[in-house]
Amino acid sequence: MANLFTVKDSPQLVEAKQKSRSSGVAGSFNFIADFHVHSKFSRATAKNLDLENLYIAAQLKGITVVGTGDFTHPGWFAEIKEKLEPAEQGLFKLKKEIAGECDKKVPLSCHGKVRFILVSEISNIYKKNNKTRKNHNLVFVPDLNIADKFNSKLDKIGNIKSDGRPILGLDARNLLEILLETSARSFLIPAHIWTPWFSVLGSKTGFNSILECFGDLTPHIFAAETGLSSDPPMNWRVSGLDNLTLVSNSDAHSPLKLGREANLFNTDLSYSAIREAIETGDNKQFSGTFEFYPEEGKYHLDGHRKCSVCLWPQETLKNKGTCPVCGKSLTVGVLYRVEELADRSENEKPKRIRPYYSIVPLVNILSEILKVSHGSKKVMNNYNAALDILGPELNILHKLEPKTIDKAGIPLLGEAVKRMRRGEIDIAPGYDGEFGRVQIFKDFSLQKNPPDRR
Ligand SMILES: [Zn+2]
Ligand SMILES: [Zn+2]
Repeated sequence: MANLFTVKDSPQLVEAKQKSRSSGVAGSFNFIADFHVHSKFSRATAKNLDLENLYIAAQLKGITVVGTGDFTHPGWFAEIKEKLEPAEQGLFKLKKEIAGECDKKVPLSCHGKVRFILVSEISNIYKKNNKTRKNHNLVFVPDLNIADKFNSKLDKIGNIKSDGRPILGLDARNLLEILLETSARSFLIPAHIWTPWFSVLGSKTGFNSILECFGDLTPHIFAAETGLSSDPPMNWRVSGLDNLTLVSNSDAHSPLKLGREANLFNTDLSYSAIREAIETGDNKQFSGTFEFYPEEGKYHLDGHRKCSVCLWPQETLKNKGTCPVCGKSLTVGVLYRVEELADRSENEKPKRIRPYYSIVPLVNILSEILKVSHGSKKVMNNYNAALDILGPELNILHKLEPKTIDKAGIPLLGEAVKRMRRGEIDIAPGYDGEFGRVQIFKDFSLQKNPPDRR
């Protein structure tokens, strides 16, 4: 294991590592895409997670292409066929009557085109090389016919009816084989590849490489989803991922979580163009990703939520992987696992990388400025007011000048966004299922007398 941990005095609050953070305003791109979402038919998702609300949320966020999620589920697939119609090649749009009704709920400043692409997440649970493996995989298909054929094949293998994200006792390699046999234009992207329990490289039930999981079919894997708890620089440490395009999605379980992470495309709007951009990883076509600060993710550091124990990798090593409170084995987070598989130092980079931009969700920023919880009415009222005046959320976070943002009349919002873009933030990292917390203003007295205001 590489011995390169960055250990800080306290695991509770760390300064974001600015050197590895991309900052500033995103470069040029044609559209934003978020492929990994779920429907109301998946476990632990919002009841209002339907196509209408995805369409509305996509406009509020500024996302043009959104995954349908869950197309393997018969109930959801029926809704897809009922409510969507073909648009550009391989993409779908909400039928006009439905879209018209939804548009009334979107401020004019956010109105924009929304397209759906057929994507579903499968949970594969199986034994391989004497070990139980659990990994999640995103499957992309180019049309409804192929989705239908693929669904019937899975239906013979396991239960696709009980959960929008079906659990199948199927080797991920064999899932890929079935997908490619159904259509060579389909493709598979391993989902949130570092999460401990359900991913291809996860510490608990994963593999040590993509090759170990997909074997002879590995050449068909051309991308990997970084997940909320890791960002591109963490993935750059592992040379086995060098020829994969790192994609980022929200894995939204409710409409407003859409776009927490997303992908920037500089291509035409079509399934083939999107696939080609991801497959080639060409910076002219795939313009990079919007990223959660990985420390904000639920599995960044190691620990036990129940015991309130949160440890940096080096401390976990010192404790031999056991919890200092209860003595049971710790849930090892993504940072530890990356260190375990890393064959590069933090300062090295692969030859070919794509840009990325770290963002903090607008509701989190507002919650800090207004000193109330994320879900409060006050935050939502200010969120809606900001979008009304300034346009879609991702535009606010990554395009608008701070002085333009201040036109929304929310004190400190422009300053907060500026600091977020520069990576000038503090984070209490997440661990064992507990989300990390971001703090932009260290000194809350700033609120009375904000510095550096033009
Ligand atoms: Zn998943
Ligand atoms: Zn414990």
